[in-house]
Amino acid sequence: MSERLYIFDTTLRDGEQSPGASMTRDEKIRIAKQLEKLGVDIIEAGFAAASPGDADAIRAIAETVKDSTICSLARANERDIRAAGEAIRPANRGRIHTFIATSPIHMEKKLRMQPDAVVEAAVAAVKLAREYTDDVEFSAEDALRSEPDFLCRIFEAVIKAGARTINVPDTVGYAVPYLTTAFFRQLIEGTPNSDQVIWSAHCHNDLGMAVANSLAAVQGGARQVECTINGLGERAGNAALEEIVMAVRTRRDVFDLETRIDTTQIVPSSKLVSSITGYPVQPNKAVVGANAFAHESGIHQDGVLKHRETYEIMSAESVGWTQNKLILGKLSGRNAFRSRLQELNLLPSSEEALNNAFVCFKALADKKREIFDEDLFALFGKDSGTASENIQLVALKVTSETGTAPKATVTLRRDGIELAGEAIGAGPVDATFKAIESILQSQADLQLYSVNAITSGTDSQGEVTVRLHKAERVVNGQGADIDILIASAKAYLSALNHLAANQERAHPQL
Ligand SMILES: [Zn+2]
Repeated sequence: MSERLYIFDTTLRDGEQSPGASMTRDEKIRIAKQLEKLGVDIIEAGFAAASPGDADAIRAIAETVKDSTICSLARANERDIRAAGEAIRPANRGRIHTFIATSPIHMEKKLRMQPDAVVEAAVAAVKLAREYTDDVEFSAEDALRSEPDFLCRIFEAVIKAGARTINVPDTVGYAVPYLTTAFFRQLIEGTPNSDQVIWSAHCHNDLGMAVANSLAAVQGGARQVECTINGLGERAGNAALEEIVMAVRTRRDVFDLETRIDTTQIVPSSKLVSSITGYPVQPNKAVVGANAFAHESGIHQDGVLKHRETYEIMSAESVGWTQNKLILGKLSGRNAFRSRLQELNLLPSSEEALNNAFVCFKALADKKREIFDEDLFALFGKDSGTASENIQLVALKVTSETGTAPKATVTLRRDGIELAGEAIGAGPVDATFKAIESILQSQADLQLYSVNAITSGTDSQGEVTVRLHKAERVVNGQGADIDILIASAKAYLSALNHLAANQERAHPQL
């Protein structure tokens, strides 16, 4: 029997800190349910002290998800720990993850605390957290740039105070694999009570080594890895869950460890997270990229056809890729539609929202012969029909012809009132956005505009992502439609709705 490697997913906390990736409560619940189905051991559901909305989302996840441990992050202070403790209360198994910075530069410049005071604060935080749960994790922020002797000292103290997991984060993505292995060995050997806890790695991808460093930490003795779906996360992101899990599974000869992950749920998880956050997956991304199992070159293809293992070290099916098979069509009934949404964790929270979704599905099926899972993710991945979606597209007309300037006429509904506007633009998308702005005058900057075809064929839906920036806030919006101009207008409005709904929140770095 191999030893267990615990998978700690922080898509909903660290991942959500990617620019524009903030999610609604219902979107977080959908992802959490999918992570539970995936078999994640610990779900870091958020940072409860960030805002009442964040605490509420963690509580809702703790009420809904029963097979995974639900965790909230908390800085090492009383207010944060009490907020985390209250938020995880409904969970079958709840964890508080508290942290404080331990590197000389962070202690001196950010915390302005002496090392003794840092140890004292960490111990007090762990003791308070233990009043809420036995499952307390302690992280030494910026550990990879901290003094090993000081780390051993603070770890020994927090283990005595009741911490069960010790996390050693590479907060700034500075680590190198072979040194990471040595660093973990040094810390585990140097901390007298190290055998009483599970050691954990949390690596960032600034130098493209997050997965390599996480696996190096595992070789140095870590038995928990903190990671995110698609490697989502602050700056260059976190270690990608799917890559770590498949590396450990494919190279069992090297790692000899087991995870509880149902790998066939990896691709559905990737698609759900991508459609909700507006972060498309690059085609050449390992495991979950569209090309990861596509063999375009003639020579490879011949080898694969003769014997799959000539060029494939794992199978597409094992990570949940299915052939683009027909899932639903024009004649599919409400029950078939409902059960497919349920399987994909896309089921809306109310019957009314489900009815609206069914109407959208029928309208799409009228225009497009075959409806794939990808279409459903694009249409229903984002949480729609909530009160925050107060601006809706009613009608759009765009004229575009060689030799003339494109012109767009748009009708919107805001809080039940219809508003119309028109504008001329450099191209049809520009004209559409200008027509919307002629009505709403948001004064937001457009930072990113991208279109992806969701499935193959010219009748595919286009999925548009729009990123807007206004007053230090960044939001993503998405829209899908067979007509990419309508998809563009929907994406722009979705971003504006997010801009209106989002609140100020604290964003700790870890
Ligand atoms: Zn992090």
